[in-house]
Amino acid sequence: MKIRSAKVIVTCPGRNLVTLKIETDEGVYGIGDATLNGREKAVVAYLEDHVIPTLIGKDPQRIEDTWQYLYRGAYWRRGPVTMTAIAAVDVALWDIKAKMANMPLYQLLGGKSREKVMVYGHATGLDIESCLEEVQKHVDLGYKAVRVQCGIPGVPTTYGVAKEAGKPYEPADSALPAEHVWSTEKYLNHVPKLFAAVREQFGDDLHILHDAHHRLTPIQAARLGKEVEPYHLFWLEDCTPAEHQASYETIRQHTTTPLAIGEVFSSLHDCQELIQKQLIDYIRATITHAGGITNVRRIADFAALYHVKTGFHGATDLSPVCMGAALHFDTWVPNFGIQEHMPHTAETDAVFPHAYEFKDGFFTPGEVPGHGVDIDEKLAAKYPYKPAYLPVNRLEDGTLWNW
Ligand SMILES: [Mg+2]
Repeated sequence: MKIRSAKVIVTCPGRNLVTLKIETDEGVYGIGDATLNGREKAVVAYLEDHVIPTLIGKDPQRIEDTWQYLYRGAYWRRGPVTMTAIAAVDVALWDIKAKMANMPLYQLLGGKSREKVMVYGHATGLDIESCLEEVQKHVDLGYKAVRVQCGIPGVPTTYGVAKEAGKPYEPADSALPAEHVWSTEKYLNHVPKLFAAVREQFGDDLHILHDAHHRLTPIQAARLGKEVEPYHLFWLEDCTPAEHQASYETIRQHTTTPLAIGEVFSSLHDCQELIQKQLIDYIRATITHAGGITNVRRIADFAALYHVKTGFHGATDLSPVCMGAALHFDTWVPNFGIQEHMPHTAETDAVFPHAYEFKDGFFTPGEVPGHGVDIDEKLAAKYPYKPAYLPVNRLEDGTLWNW
């Protein structure tokens, strides 16, 4: 069996999504997500110019060898562009292998460790009151876990909150990045009131999550974690950047609020110390940005040794192909924690027909052989690429800060 052809499909049914399709000489094909938010074209070029030519004629059944070939063989290791490209190949090959085995992917990984996958949704509001209304909508839909983000008085824009109700909060709808203004002090003074209000209205059972989006220093994160302990968050996400992994020791020394990070990680080396020293509780590395199923499995197995659970990134900057693959992985992985879920646009769902289903706060991956997600290429072609960027962020005095 040989890889006959491979191609990259870029489509924008709401936002830019990049898909790699690999076809074999036996007619079986597989697809992988290659979307890197705001840097999509870099991965397209990496795949088209440097990866696809090396795949033609290779045996698609040799997933591990292909992974090593693209990782070790490139000489240049790691980094989001490289690891997203490798992930797209890896997921497409797992899709092919599972289709050849006539099995849903979770069976090939080792079978079910659970019957269904708990997901969390996103509730956002310009103020606490409107955020509570959004939480109620999620509760009505059956969600057992909700991420809550609200506007901060005196701060014109806040991460996770759209300027207008019902509009997406990212990406920027202009050809260049929008510029936001931020005050950590105002945020820290206000945001604990949001969790108090959610607990008061919804009681103790609802899982509450929150994303600080890398905007705090370690000691500020420690303060927030400590102050919100009475509200029993499921997790506090990305409270401070983790290039310096030991900085999480400061946060850990001060608070029992569970910590999650990892959506920008591309390898185990980005979180080895965080995991090994038990400085986090959930690892959020995604299949699409961290080298595919082959590599994320290594991360998850390593994390299991240190009581760290998975909590994969699952925002709409990842395509339904990533969601499908993640749900199979989540169904198998023994140390599963939770899965993020943001609904794709109806146009996106139409471009990517899929077998996964939502019911009462949980997903099931479906029983279709492979990862259960396909792409309608004709429909995809109706939505051409549009330049779009994540915003950049500045403090009130103009200093560039983490968005
Ligand atoms: Mg996040």
